[in-house]
Amino acid sequence: MANTLNTPRLPDHPRGILIDLAGVLHTGDAPLAGAQAALMRLREAGIPLRFLTNTTRTPRATIVHKLHKMGLGVGEDEVITAVHATRKYVQMHGLHPYWLVHPSIESELPAPTGMQPDAVVVGDAGPYFSSGSMNAAFRHLVRGVPLIAMARNRYFEEPDGLSIDMGAYVVALEYAAGVQATIIGKPSPAFFDAALADLGIDAADAIMVGDDLRDDILGAQASGIAGVLVRTGKYRSGDEATEEGSPSLIADDFASAVEAILAHLEFPMAGVMQSASGNAVNASTVLARV
Ligand SMILES: [Mg+2]
Repeated sequence: MANTLNTPRLPDHPRGILIDLAGVLHTGDAPLAGAQAALMRLREAGIPLRFLTNTTRTPRATIVHKLHKMGLGVGEDEVITAVHATRKYVQMHGLHPYWLVHPSIESELPAPTGMQPDAVVVGDAGPYFSSGSMNAAFRHLVRGVPLIAMARNRYFEEPDGLSIDMGAYVVALEYAAGVQATIIGKPSPAFFDAALADLGIDAADAIMVGDDLRDDILGAQASGIAGVLVRTGKYRSGDEATEEGSPSLIADDFASAVEAILAHLEFPMAGVMQSASGNAVNASTVLARV
């Protein structure tokens, strides 16, 4: 039986919505059906948005540029990435890490200091994960320096199928060196808290929409944020309820999630929004409460 004790209720009047990117708004370079129009509806409803991504292979400016090319209007200052959060963490702790990351994000990292590394930071190095780079990281770890992981995701969806994510490499380092990584991106509570602080709102007034039950939904819910799981991207049958918990709401896709979120709004703006779109909102057809 799934644990529903920690499943927050969807707020009737959300003051901010946190949205995962890959698997929710797009797959690869293609927007998911209805995602552009649904995003527009949230904009029209005047709800502040933040986009939370554990993608650590691509600089933020490139992510935003790609979204624009797909017709998804997202501002760079609305995107909170695990790379930026990691940079902040490293600076706050005055660390000089060994970076096991993809070269494409080097421009977003602090300049190399030439000092003996006092931490290992792992991002999604993709093809740059090799026995050589992993062993270099391992040798720093056995000296006793901390392991910091930008994320620990299991897999993600690409246009030709699911692909292994960086989590397996993090676990390999943890296993070999006998250490436990500090995770910076989702599902770290600090990552969600940073998004709430950026919006200036409380967890009870926020909603997280994502396709990853563990990292998006249960992570947000652990911080008191209602989670809406979409059945797109990496979603697989059976994700609705696990031993670890259940989403506040399940929707077929982002458009259905937005439909359900806006259906909860009772103030006049919702009526204006509905007449502008020409669609009657009927939440019962698009969502399943669990
Ligand atoms: Mg995703």
